[in-house]
Amino acid sequence: MESEMFNALVVEKDEESGKTSAAVKGISDADLPEGNVTVAVEYSTVNYKDGLCIGPGGGLVRSYPHVPGIDFAGTVEASEDDRYKSGDKVVLTGWRVGEVHWGGHGQKARVNADWLVPLPNGLDTRQAMAVGTAGFTAMLAVMALEDHGIKDGPVLVTGAAGGVGSVATAILANLGHEVAGVTGRPETADYLKSLGATQIVAREEINETTKRPLEAETWDGCVDAVGGEMLARVLGQMKYGASVAAVGLAGGAGLPATVIPFLLRGVNLLGIDSVMQPYENRLRAWERIAKDLPMDKLEAMIQPATLGDLPKLGADILKGQVKGRVVVDVNA
Ligand code: NDP
Repeated sequence: MESEMFNALVVEKDEESGKTSAAVKGISDADLPEGNVTVAVEYSTVNYKDGLCIGPGGGLVRSYPHVPGIDFAGTVEASEDDRYKSGDKVVLTGWRVGEVHWGGHGQKARVNADWLVPLPNGLDTRQAMAVGTAGFTAMLAVMALEDHGIKDGPVLVTGAAGGVGSVATAILANLGHEVAGVTGRPETADYLKSLGATQIVAREEINETTKRPLEAETWDGCVDAVGGEMLARVLGQMKYGASVAAVGLAGGAGLPATVIPFLLRGVNLLGIDSVMQPYENRLRAWERIAKDLPMDKLEAMIQPATLGDLPKLGADILKGQVKGRVVVDVNA
């Protein structure tokens, strides 16, 4: 069978200078990596990790040329696995797709059937990618907080105007929680309120506290997308027995904290990993997303994009300049 050409964002590395460059190119089925399901990708997104993979790689990309895109949604074109047949709608997050395996920043992807889930009822492929890995992770974080019990007081969301933060804010508010969104961008206050935040907290208000191990007991839960100084300060502001779901490190990988909040306030620090989630957990989280995330709020988060926009958007997300969720129509 003749190989069909299609477009993809291809990241290449110049061996001499060590520099990487990304451009949309025509590639063929024959170029795709091994896998037992070929998907006609419809939508993909830009997550923080995509920024790293489109740019210098940061150790995530193992070999070049590389097609980034840590998530995608589309229609099965060919399958050698009994679980999927041609025409099925599917969604993929995690499993290091877009990092070590070619991902969703192209019009086709070939992957292992184990990494896919069927598109949940109630979501189309565009909505699924408006959620994407960031939103999926936000749901995992909310579920982890629920497993440990969230009381009636305010729940803090850090990095609130970003992808994880936006979806976490909308889900928590829709579930009836009082949500306080921390942002370094005061101009996003109206946007965050439209997602359901009732309190907007300036980034400095958290980072520039007394830096004592314990501050006033303030929050009944937290979804933290920022890490670093922010997470350290938040730990000391949690109410007795409350939990923090730590999702990301947009503000740094260090943790300048003490053990005091754990010892004297029984605070739980819950690590959230979206990459290696087993099939049942992924299915459960996607079903909860379809049920608990209001679609009008999801619409308000969307910034539409094309494959050609990806190099700039990849750089923007690393600088914390993307608001909400970028949805890439790979066929536009
Ligand atoms: P975004 O860039 O969309 O959002 C991050 C937000 O963090 C920014 O919008 C900004 O929010 C805030 N921020 C950025 N830099 C700083 C800083 N220096 N200090 C304080 N706040 C800052 O990224 P995502 O939401 O997609 O991802 C957030 C993090 O979660 C990333 O580290 C990502 O790698 C991680 N992640 C982890 C996953 C997992 O499986 N554990 C899955 C998905 C993402 P604002 O402007 O409102 O202050």
